[in-house]
Amino acid sequence: MQLGKYSFGIGDRFAMQGEAQLKGIMKTLEYGIEIHPVWNKSNREHMTIHSEPLQTRQEADEAVKALGWSKPYFVDADHINMSNVGKFIDHCDFFTIDVADFIGKKATDEEIKQFVKNNEKFLGKFSIPGVEEQFEITRKLLQEIAGKFLFAIKQAGTIYRHIEKKKGAGNFVTEVSMDEVAEAQSPIEMFFILSMVAAEGIPAQTIAPKFTGRFNKGVDYVGDVSLFRKEFEQDLLVIDIAITEFDLPKNLKLSVHSGSDKFSIYPIMGELIKKYDKGIHVKTAGTTWLEEAIGLAMAGGEALQMIKDIYKAGLNRYDELAGPYATVIDIDTSKLPTPSEVESWDGETLANTLRHIPDHPQYNLHFRQLMHVSYKLAAEKGETYINLLREHRDLVGRQVTENIFDRHIKRLFAF
Ligand SMILES: [Zn+2]
Repeated sequence: MQLGKYSFGIGDRFAMQGEAQLKGIMKTLEYGIEIHPVWNKSNREHMTIHSEPLQTRQEADEAVKALGWSKPYFVDADHINMSNVGKFIDHCDFFTIDVADFIGKKATDEEIKQFVKNNEKFLGKFSIPGVEEQFEITRKLLQEIAGKFLFAIKQAGTIYRHIEKKKGAGNFVTEVSMDEVAEAQSPIEMFFILSMVAAEGIPAQTIAPKFTGRFNKGVDYVGDVSLFRKEFEQDLLVIDIAITEFDLPKNLKLSVHSGSDKFSIYPIMGELIKKYDKGIHVKTAGTTWLEEAIGLAMAGGEALQMIKDIYKAGLNRYDELAGPYATVIDIDTSKLPTPSEVESWDGETLANTLRHIPDHPQYNLHFRQLMHVSYKLAAEKGETYINLLREHRDLVGRQVTENIFDRHIKRLFAF
């Protein structure tokens, strides 16, 4: 099972926007670019809203059937580990093995020794074709890299083999993710991580590093854009040599997590993948719920009131909602509108405050981030929320399609 050159992680909290998202992906065909949709949903998300992986599978299958999509598509068990992979096995054909929690745990001395031995031939001067910078690989550096990552990649190997045993080799796509950590991995670390991935026999088709800078949920990239450019470019080139050196899948590519809304780096990623003729996977699923909120606000009446109520409840339950996302949001609570302010808004004002158009005078990224983590409150509304989505299906769907195509895909491919 092969993931294409370009793929987008889509999907949504309530499994209602499959068609609207696929429409956005399909528009790309008019520009001569084929993107493979990957419906992804993490265990964390399933736990928060009490949904099951089967629902994501059904959403994907139904959308594909309704719109007559004949190209490949996938359902991703996002950020899984050994403790929760079980319930995803039957419904997914893409597995994002998350090793972030194991980074820094020590492998045995014997294992580290073996790794250093396997990679002895890289000792000394090391250059990456296309990169001017020269690197020096020492035994000490190899030991340090092994100390940081070997245990984690060995864990990934165990999880991979578990999935392989259940599903059969070649019947699913494997991603290795380590994005949810504080420290970015350097391109040299990436090279040796891929050496470990290969040694574990993991046929990774995508790898999700932690890049430099903040990848906060639902808002733009925060960080040194030129540093990001350098790192992203070196990662692209490192993957090339790793594929050859370690005999990894030819289509191995970078996966960018919390990829939605990182508008200031989209042109950079777009330019570099074009320059080197590389593929990319971008995960954008999480903010589809915000497009639902925008659509419902625009619908007015009861739907608008529902969104206002969710925000007000979100303010009251701030710690509970923001806590689990502490490392991936930056909310300045002094910039949050008060309940009475929000109560006075019309639908247009709420939509403009929430919609990610960075230079719109009403846009408020603090409001947007709080709404982002408040999806649990929409889930608590149960059928009332879902019925409003049904009632305003077209208006909401248009927001979802426009968001993925006009604000994301167009920026990446410079249409
Ligand atoms: Zn991630």
